[in-house]
Amino acid sequence: MSDTLRAHLATFDRIRKPGAYAYERVSDHVGGVHGTHIVFGSLVHGDEVGSLPAVLRVIDELNHGTLKFGGRVTFFVGNPEAGLAGVRFLESDLNRVFVDSAADDHEGRRARQLRPILDDADVFIDLHQTIEETSNAFYIFPFGVEGWHWARAIAATPMWVTRSPEASFSAGACCADEYVRLRGKPGITIEVSQRGFGNGGEERAYKAIVDTLAIADAVAAGTTTLAAAAEARPEIAFLQTTHRELFTSDALALRPGLTNFQTVQEGDLLSAPGTPELRAPATGWVLFPKYPPRIDGVYKKPLPGEIYRIIGPLPGHPLDLYNLR
Ligand SMILES: [Zn+2]
Repeated sequence: MSDTLRAHLATFDRIRKPGAYAYERVSDHVGGVHGTHIVFGSLVHGDEVGSLPAVLRVIDELNHGTLKFGGRVTFFVGNPEAGLAGVRFLESDLNRVFVDSAADDHEGRRARQLRPILDDADVFIDLHQTIEETSNAFYIFPFGVEGWHWARAIAATPMWVTRSPEASFSAGACCADEYVRLRGKPGITIEVSQRGFGNGGEERAYKAIVDTLAIADAVAAGTTTLAAAAEARPEIAFLQTTHRELFTSDALALRPGLTNFQTVQEGDLLSAPGTPELRAPATGWVLFPKYPPRIDGVYKKPLPGEIYRIIGPLPGHPLDLYNLR
């Protein structure tokens, strides 16, 4: 993978439009017709590389005028150094450190370089991939009315793993999309496919990008409103996390073969033979099952926070559940 990634990064460096930002893995395109500024993130987790070919294709089409956007669109490649090393991050999870207190390590410094870009975004869309196989692409971010309108209008996927906007704070940590939401702007994360090239992420990311730009142009031109563009598409299926199993010990291990959106029944055994018993506490779908690499039988540190989640349908519309009507 790293040879392909290296080639794609070289292409990015060659075709990118340098803009006003100091960070060098940015391409910044100004259409000059209206002021809406859309920002897309790729490789915020270094090994989630699948959206990068789509970003290159869009940059190339913008450069050649075969794709037009009247506003400003900025693409950044978040953590290519981790990507080239084949890992999620080098020193700390970049998608946790958009905070003033971030350490002076690789990802802390990168977050400081990226924050001025996020500070300018009217809409931020972060393109991620799951570790294990997934039968669905999905949005994953806390609910907000404007974010909902964008997500439904773009229709990048009909599924959204969401939660109350009030539950979005975790002390001392901040994701890129959350950083934008704290500014009062929509910050949207899409898991486009399983990680890697060729798993369907490129096609989904490309469509999400061009559809977002088309909607932003149409809204700026007054031919539609964001709410009307959303209303014109089917409602999203809202899902919520019903259980998070914390990765509390080196002894824990999932049974092989669990994938995203795999159906489990309450009581199903999810742990590997000979490891502490983990049983699904509820019926639903598995999300983010983790099989961290082991060295001499011991997990590489730091352990992920959760070993798996269970998700299920949200029992109503978020507008009602979160008292937003
Ligand atoms: Zn990710």
